[in-house]
Amino acid sequence: MAQNGGHDGWLSSRYAKFSDLTIHCGNRTWRVHRVVVCAHSSVFEARCSGDIERALTQVISLRDDDPEAVHEMLCHMYTESFGNQACEAPADQGLAISLRVYALATKYNILSLVRRAAQQFTTQAADKWQSVEFAHAIKAIYSQGRPFQAAMSKTVVQIAAKHARELFTQKDSEFCKVAETVPKFAAELSAQIVKGGGDQGRARERPPLMGSLRCPGRHCRRTVDMETTVWISSNKAICYHCGVGYFKSQWAIGGT
Ligand SMILES: [Zn+2]
Repeated sequence: MAQNGGHDGWLSSRYAKFSDLTIHCGNRTWRVHRVVVCAHSSVFEARCSGDIERALTQVISLRDDDPEAVHEMLCHMYTESFGNQACEAPADQGLAISLRVYALATKYNILSLVRRAAQQFTTQAADKWQSVEFAHAIKAIYSQGRPFQAAMSKTVVQIAAKHARELFTQKDSEFCKVAETVPKFAAELSAQIVKGGGDQGRARERPPLMGSLRCPGRHCRRTVDMETTVWISSNKAICYHCGVGYFKSQWAIGGT
């Protein structure tokens, strides 16, 4: 994945000459390999197939995506990592990029990256709960569509509940402003506090189903990581692609 013939550290330009796929996003260009990209993403696979015979080098333009997140995604495809030294570090290392990568990984159905980005976000948020960044991440999560919101809101609600006393004592803080302007977050936070004052360091409960299963939704059928997705009850999990909740038994059938 060389840019302008450059060297990215994790894939030398030597291999870039065998590149058969060019990806454009914003003002950036990556020369990659269909075999790598398509192996990771059924969405890219669908966009590539049919054209293989026709074009020696195929070009895909990702018009609606964020170039920095795309770079992280491609890097993950080659290194199986996320947010580490294997890639040139993104300018923004924080919660915002983790969220953007999570959204992109969901869109392109890259399960391993969905999981990594969610883990990275959770780890960072647990550490940065006092920061303006955390408050902005809450706002960003609640301004997204339902599937995204459902999957990520639980994390920020649990962390905020755990530190609610400290967070609410700083009256003019960014966090208080967000809690006032995002009623859905405030409501979910209250419910979480009433439920038991946050997670109190309690380990996350083991989900009732483990591993990756196919969404039972007739028009979705995408793969969902049972440990990353949101369980709205002990019996029902939301698909983070289509936002629909399905019972444990339906997942078991859909996954086979
Ligand atoms: Zn689905």
